[in-house]
Parts: sequence; structure tokens; C-alpha cells
Amino acid sequence: MNESNGAQRLNGVNGAYIHNGHLSQGQGAIVILGGGVAGLASGLELARRGLQVTILEQAGEVGGLARTVTHQGYRFDIGGHRFHSHNPRLLRWLRELLGDDLLRVSRRSHIYLQGQYVTYPLQFPGALGIFGPRQLLQVLSSYAAARWQQRTATTVGVSFEDWVVQRFGRALYEIYFRPYTEKVWGIPCHELSADWAAQRISLPDLWATMRRTLYAGRRPPATIVSEFYYPRYGFGMIPKRLAQALLNAGGSIVTNASVRSVTPVGGDLAGGYTVSYGTNSGQGQLRADCVISTIPLNALLRALPPNPGAPADVGLDYRDLICVFLAIDQQRVSRDHWTYFPQRELIFGRTHEPGNWSAAMTPPGMTSLVAEIFTGRDEPTWHSADDVIAAKTVTQLHALGFLSGDRVVDRRVLRVKNAYPVYRLGYRNELERAHRYLQQFPGLHLVGRTGAFRYLNSDGVIEDALTLVDWLCGQAPAQVEVGEHYVVP
Ligand SMILES: Cc1cc2nc3c(=O)[nH]c(=O)nc-3n(C[C@H](O)[C@H](O)[C@H](O)COP(=O)(O)OP(=O)(O)OC[C@H]3O[C@@H](n4cnc5c(N)ncnc54)[C@H](O)[C@@H]3O)c2cc1C
Repeated sequence: MNESNGAQRLNGVNGAYIHNGHLSQGQGAIVILGGGVAGLASGLELARRGLQVTILEQAGEVGGLARTVTHQGYRFDIGGHRFHSHNPRLLRWLRELLGDDLLRVSRRSHIYLQGQYVTYPLQFPGALGIFGPRQLLQVLSSYAAARWQQRTATTVGVSFEDWVVQRFGRALYEIYFRPYTEKVWGIPCHELSADWAAQRISLPDLWATMRRTLYAGRRPPATIVSEFYYPRYGFGMIPKRLAQALLNAGGSIVTNASVRSVTPVGGDLAGGYTVSYGTNSGQGQLRADCVISTIPLNALLRALPPNPGAPADVGLDYRDLICVFLAIDQQRVSRDHWTYFPQRELIFGRTHEPGNWSAAMTPPGMTSLVAEIFTGRDEPTWHSADDVIAAKTVTQLHALGFLSGDRVVDRRVLRVKNAYPVYRLGYRNELERAHRYLQQFPGLHLVGRTGAFRYLNSDGVIEDALTLVDWLCGQAPAQVEVGEHYVVP
């Protein structure tokens, strides 16, 4: 980055920052769009460096996808959230934030496959025991065929389907990988980028996995997370504590503030921005020298002034989610953290039982279950009545023998927009197109899962937020810089 061409690096000493190469005392207003983990973590670190930070959050509370909902004495996450990281700086940072409220939990998950609940992710070779002799032969022979084809292949697979079939064979792909993946994304696996598989599937390939397990004395591969951290009163403690720390450090948060426009001041693209937002009672405006966006990328593109070359039709979309919360008059229904249901005929794809994550999530003697329904705003399920969605969920769970329908004493349905950035084939070109366009806006930065359109867990989001702040304050390595416009790589 060249600071003489309008880039903004921030220098926290005495609330000063460098703008166009000049140190401007007392300036440095930073407006952060969105109060999820990305916005709060960046905001807190900037406020701790003495900078003037305001977060605009459209919801009535902070936390975004990482919030914990409270309901009649119960608490539940938007789909169970575990915290896992190998980064010592991040773990130290989290321990400082949560202290004694950070619990260590041993993970237990199953997938309902072939009429049985099998440990998830599948652990080979043990998992092969779920197949009958004929199916087992199919699995092994299609794996051998895939390996053979790969040796002679001249092209590299680009889709999720290619990626998995090459490593596990077609039979295992059809039985195990495909149904759940298509349920989550709502598109065929051949339209989904291999990037997602590479990021999410921790197993190298069938044979390597079996070898590793056998040599390691039947221990799961090191990449399978067997333990994780969880905040005592739900994952939402993380954003709540971040928000409190941000306020203590002198930052501000405006909730119920929906960002409408981000307009360069004076039209020269170097004088900062005016950020306009709507509230319940009217609207407000803030002057910003630097804007950090964590809101959906297409919402940001719409908020910028219409310009020639603006990629208005950028092909980046997000998958939505419906959470069905059920309060159950019973000690517990399972011992699982998550249970996966890949079957197409079942409305939900995954459940989690909050009481198994932390006893503080449910009133004594009771339990609850949250079923996740992967859907899109353009699908009929999204528009179904809450009662219909909840009733179908309970009926199906009852029919599976997972719970007894008459023990369900309360229910709540929650619609969550923009839960997953969709890595459709070609998304990278679209993302690059958006980045190229955004580079003309100095001092405008993207970070987070939703803002940077990157399929990240919260640990990755926080890491990126810390890197962004280091970079803005001149403490990060040069290779992460992308012109004047910063996108955490
Ligand atoms: C079902 C599910 C399960 C998950 N499980 C895990 C897990 O086990 N472990 C883990 O670490 N992570 C998990 N994650 C991922 C984790 O939730 C995210 O990585 C993280 O919360 C993303 O934070 P963010 O700030 O980038 O985005 P968001 O949380 O999406 O924050 C963006 C914020 O911007 C706000 N906003 C949007 N538009 C506007 C606007 N116009 N004006 C103002 N504000 C606006 C939104 O309300 C939101 O608060 C899971 C996610 C989901 C959906």
C-alpha cells in the first residue's frame, strides 16, 4: 500500500490516524457496518487503540449469527456453535474475555445413516461396518476405480462432486457426502465449488484415513475436533462480552440501525464517507473517515452510490436458515451435541441439544432441541406458517423415535437470513469482480464471514478481524495488503 495515494492506516496513539500520509489529531472516526462477531472484534481492538468507533447494527441486539436467544428460561444458539482454534493468541484473547465461563466440552455427534445413528464425522475403517457385504463391495470397488481414474486423469476437478468422488469413490459420495451437502446448499453438488470441500472435509481420502486410524491405534485423525470450548451461558456470551468491552473502551453501538447508504464525501473518494441509516423512529447519519463492512456484500454494493462499472448483479448469494426451538419436559433426549439427518424427506438437516453443551442452557429437569432447516427466502418452506414448520419437525422427530411428541411443551420458529455464503461454481470470479470494483473506495474494508463472503467459523472471523486491525495500525505484514482496499485474504 502506498500511503500517499489516499490509503488510510490508523495509528492509535492519542486517537490519531494517518490519512493521505498526514497525521490528523483527533480525527479517525471509524464506522463499522454490522454488530456480529466480526464488527465487534474489530471495533473492540480499534477502540482499545484509542480510536473513535461506532457500530451500526440493524437488529435489536448484537451478535448476528453468533447470538444466543433466550426464551422462557431456555437459551439456544442459531445452530449449536462450538469454539475451536489452534491459534494461541486467539485462545488467550478468548480466555481473557470469558474467564471462568469458558467451558471445555468433549464433542459427541452422530449421523442418521442406513437406519442407524453412526458417529459423525464417519471414522474409517470402523464406519464401513454399517454397510452390508454388497454395499461394502460397491464402496471399496468405486474407491479403487476413482483412484485409478485419478492416476490417469488429465483435468483437475473443480466441483464438490469431483473433489469427493476422487478421494472417496462414487458409492460413498452418493451414500454419505451428497445427501447432506445438497440439503445444506439446496443446489446439486456438481454446482458447488471444490473450495468448500477442501475447507470443510478434514479427511484426506478413504485409504489415507484408514491407514492413519490403524497406525494411530484407532484414534480419530488429528484433524477431527474431539474437544471444543463453549461459553457457559451460550455462544452469544462472546458477542455480548465484546460489546461490553467495546463500550468500556469508549466505543459506541447503535442497534436497530439499518445501513442504507455509504456515500463518499465531496466525490473525490478520499475525503471519507457519510453513512446513512434508518432507525425505528427515523434516520441518522455519521461521518466516517474509515468504514469497515461486515454486512452482506450485495447489501454493501447497493448502499454505495450507483457508478458506471458497479457490479449490481454480482452473483454472490447466501443460504438462509430456519431454527425450530422445542422445549421438552424430559431430562434429555440424546447425549449428542449435534445429530445430522441427511434424508431428503426430513424437513430438518441437523439438531442440537443445548443442555448437552452447558447445563446452564435449560431449566433444571428439562431439555430442549433446536432443529436446523436449510432453506432460501425463495423457497416455500421459508414462507410456511410457523405452526406448520414446528408441527412437521415434531412429527418427523417423533416418527424417528428421537423424541416423544407429547413431551414438547413449547416451540418457537426463527428465520435467519444470510446464514451461509454459497460457494457456487464461479463464485471466485464474482468475488474478484466485486473486489476490483470496491478498490476505488479508499478506507472501505471488508471483514467477516458475511462481509467478506468467506465460509468461516467465528475463530476465523475473529482472527481476520485482529489481522485487519493490525494492518490498519501498520502492524501486519505487507503481503496481506490489497491496494488501498483491504480484504482479509
Ligand atoms: C447454523 C450455523 C452454525 C454455526 N456453527 C459454528 C460453530 O460451531 N462454530 C463457529 O465458530 N462458528 C459457527 N458458525 C459461524 C459463525 O456464526 C460465524 O462465523 C460468525 O458469527 C460470523 O460473524 P460475522 O460478524 O462475520 O457475520 P454476522 O454474524 O452475519 O454479522 C453481520 C451483522 O450485520 C448485521 N447487518 C446486516 N445488514 C445490515 C445493515 N444493512 N445494517 C446494519 N447491520 C446489518 C446483521 O444483523 C449481523 O448482526 C455457524 C453459523 C451458522 C449459521
